[in-house]
Amino acid sequence: MFIKNNCIRIITPILSCIGVLFSQDIQFYKARFDKYLNLNHQLDKVVLFYPDKIILRNINEQSDLVIYKDEIPAISAMLESEKLNDLEVFFQNKKNKHLNSRELDSILISVNEIYSLNKKNHLPLSGIRIAIDPGHFADDINTAKIEQRLLYFKHKTNNKIDTITLIEGKLTFQTAIILAEKLKEQGAEILLTRQKSNATAFGISFEEWYQKRKNVVLDSLLETKELTKEKYLKLKSCSKQQFFNLFFREYELLQRAKIINAFNPHLSVIIHFNVDEKNNPWNKATFKNYSMCFIGGAFEENDLKTSTNKIHFLRLLLTNQIENSKKISSYTMQNFENNLSVSAAKTNDATYLQSVCIPSENPGVFCRNLLLTRHIISPLVYGESMCQDNFKECQLLSQNNYKLKEQKVPYRIYEVAKAYFDAIMKYFKDLLPN
Ligand SMILES: [Zn+2]
Repeated sequence: MFIKNNCIRIITPILSCIGVLFSQDIQFYKARFDKYLNLNHQLDKVVLFYPDKIILRNINEQSDLVIYKDEIPAISAMLESEKLNDLEVFFQNKKNKHLNSRELDSILISVNEIYSLNKKNHLPLSGIRIAIDPGHFADDINTAKIEQRLLYFKHKTNNKIDTITLIEGKLTFQTAIILAEKLKEQGAEILLTRQKSNATAFGISFEEWYQKRKNVVLDSLLETKELTKEKYLKLKSCSKQQFFNLFFREYELLQRAKIINAFNPHLSVIIHFNVDEKNNPWNKATFKNYSMCFIGGAFEENDLKTSTNKIHFLRLLLTNQIENSKKISSYTMQNFENNLSVSAAKTNDATYLQSVCIPSENPGVFCRNLLLTRHIISPLVYGESMCQDNFKECQLLSQNNYKLKEQKVPYRIYEVAKAYFDAIMKYFKDLLPN
């Protein structure tokens, strides 16, 4: 059984707000499932709710895992604080077994107390850990082309033609640096998933990784059978562009999730800048502009096939993470709308908002089962503050008119960072009233 000699869990202000230790009726979890997790009824036959238990079934419609009502407080506490490998072992052993009260007690006293708050000073965010993920990694044109995150087009204003060159990975990094500084001033401990503008989450550029680490990584994944021989040979011989699409994009995102989870953040902020989907192939500016924030949820049937994904699903189902993510995301959306004057996206603004998202009751906040919204074990906001290709925004994002240490960045970036910052301050003020 899963017992460790760790300290006794103390209910911190944050944990009690997260609410993991309070038992709810199964109906409460069913309502959360219907509202945020079950995309187009795809999980109707996979996840079943009874008054005393929740059953997860496999593809043969056999019961794969049963969570009994009295187990939920202990299991939800574990889901937020234990390592993924330990959870996999726990659920493999558990299956349909009903844990007795002695076993449940031993879980509750052994769970790591990772959310406790050690205030070091009087600053409002003292003791709070915040992870910031600046989306993508390119900061030069060639890498941005591989990453498919380059906007390059001619733009006419006042009879003058400018060339617009925007690299999303550069904008997200500048935003992250400003946000990190502002949060540190308030006492927060900050983790950035990338330390330099051109660095990936592996600490080096994509180019350097490709030259120095690609072969070693592929060889070891073949050895551990995480890659089939067929896929291995394909990845060895394909172009750099294909290698990014087939392998590196997801591999690097998993590294971001790993770094974030090792930091045990109280909150994670994932920063992106959108484009107008209907402006494809983005060789001109668009008049459209919208913002949105993603949170976890919106699972499809296939998403529940692996044991890892089942664990992530259970965490979103049994803890208050979705509600907390919705809260920080709705504050962020209000700032995007009111302070940046970018309105909230409506479902018909992009096809993915209709096909793979569940809209929440807050404008612009959508459940979406992205790798990071699924893997990160903390409340989170995954922000898309604007369309970079909007005719006004592309100009504002091209003006380096704000001084950031030794370099100059667009003032618009400062405004975006400020929108996230104000939302974060409000979120923690609610959570930790003095
Ligand atoms: Zn992006």
